[in-house]
Amino acid sequence: MPAKASDAAVLMRSVSKWYGQFQVLKDIDFDVAKGERVVICGPSGSGKSTLIRCLNRLEQYQSGQVVVDGIALTDDARSVDEVRREVGMVFQHFNLFPHLTILENCTLAPMSVRGFSRKAANETAMRYLSRVRISDHAHKYPSQISGGQQQRAAIARSLCMNPKVMLFDEPTSALDPEMVTEVLDTMVGLAEEGMTMICVTHEMGFARRVADRVIFMDRGQIVESAEPSVFFDAPKHARTRLFLSQIL
Ligand code: ADP
Ligand code: MG
Repeated sequence: MPAKASDAAVLMRSVSKWYGQFQVLKDIDFDVAKGERVVICGPSGSGKSTLIRCLNRLEQYQSGQVVVDGIALTDDARSVDEVRREVGMVFQHFNLFPHLTILENCTLAPMSVRGFSRKAANETAMRYLSRVRISDHAHKYPSQISGGQQQRAAIARSLCMNPKVMLFDEPTSALDPEMVTEVLDTMVGLAEEGMTMICVTHEMGFARRVADRVIFMDRGQIVESAEPSVFFDAPKHARTRLFLSQIL
């Protein structure tokens, strides 16, 4: 289902990337429509993180084209800034600033990048911290709350920038098992509100519940792309079947 340029949140065309001799992304074509939820899975080292990091220029690529929310990513620093403003990213390790409180983590970029007043930034932050149910911890430092709470704070921090697209890179894989559900529930809530989401995750229950499309990557290529019912119950490719047999 190739998205029309007008309703595409993300377009990747023939993107290739090498680390030295090693080709980590091989001629990737990838579209995400506005409001679509895409889950990406695949073996370790298959290029999942690299792919999503190319969407906000945390990684450079040697050939191909990326357009995010209508903005073509070029080497021009302005396009990179423009795109980063619209794209929220949540990592495996929450990457909160340790020397700032949860609230300060959430207000820093809205004040410095979006030009919010402190009052407006605080109000927005408290709204999102309530939504992820950690407003009681707003004045604590990251080290004073649990991993699940830190990850929900990281999600709230991204939302404070009012992003058009949210990228998640294995947001639950560093968490203790009892904290996975609270973070997934937060992500389900976001999906239900219509956020455009690209999630690298091996949480296949989440994929079945919220994904419009599941993508399987292997060795730098998108091997399979299908809606969850087809992906899980009738995958076309032997490599997908093997992978699913190993993780389910
Ligand atoms: P995934 O997220 O699917 O586990 P990555 O995108 O992180 O995969 O990495 C894909 C491949 O690229 C891996 O083989 C990894 O070792 C290699 N790689 C990632 N980053 C670098 C780097 N900075 N320099 C060289 N190789 C890298
Ligand atoms: Mg990765």
